[in-house]
Amino acid sequence: MARVFFYSPHPDDETLSAGLALVWYLAHGYEVHVVSMNRGGNGGPLGSFNGNNVCNWAEHAYTHNPGREGYPTLTPAAIGAARILECRSAIGAMATVTPTAGYTAGALYHHEGGLLDAFGTSPSGVNDVKTIIAGYAASHPNSFHHTMSYTDDHPDHAACGEGLRQLKLENPSLVNSRFFVSRLYWGPSPPRPADVAATPGLAWFNAGPRKAEFDSVLRNRVVKAFSAWSPAAGSYAIGYHQVAGQFANNFGPSASIANLWHA
Ligand SMILES: [Zn+2]
Ligand SMILES: [Zn+2]
Repeated sequence: MARVFFYSPHPDDETLSAGLALVWYLAHGYEVHVVSMNRGGNGGPLGSFNGNNVCNWAEHAYTHNPGREGYPTLTPAAIGAARILECRSAIGAMATVTPTAGYTAGALYHHEGGLLDAFGTSPSGVNDVKTIIAGYAASHPNSFHHTMSYTDDHPDHAACGEGLRQLKLENPSLVNSRFFVSRLYWGPSPPRPADVAATPGLAWFNAGPRKAEFDSVLRNRVVKAFSAWSPAAGSYAIGYHQVAGQFANNFGPSASIANLWHA
């Protein structure tokens, strides 16, 4: 069984930037490993959840009251734990895709990298990323390894890309590694950043003739994991509280779902 790893800087990047590709891999019988490098505990508007201000998510736009709504005051650690569950729900939904004719269903594995919040700004950040990827490359030879582009403006994303970029140069077995570009940098409006445009092998992921079905899995199942508000059950819609605009741009009713990657 062909095998692919996606090193996701935070829970949601695997969906926002590589979701279409991951659904394609699962439909084509791949063993898909998603590695959440960091839990994203610093992400998500803590003040909104804890009722310190009017909730910033437009769907809410009221002031939360944790006690009345049935959930404890949230901490960064609680946010991180809840984001991991959102990610696992999302990739589990990806795996509901019907296998393409001639293929058996793909297998899905979730792992955690355990990197600290803001690891991308740590002096050891890139090396920490390399250690994690090199470990999986050694334990699972003949796999594909993907992450976010090293051109990304987010330090954590860029550190993941830079780590894989260095390993790819050092290790011929990683020659097929690819880097996904966040929709934030696709252009043309604002213009595509020059460093993205200059990457080798920049191309749209080719999802093939079943793309409409894959889009439907993403739009109608996967993203629900990030918008489900059921706080007494531990489901906090953190993805939408944090980056509702990105979910709308990637998966909204009028969005053209796509993934952009480079070599
Ligand atoms: Zn991220
Ligand atoms: Zn809210």
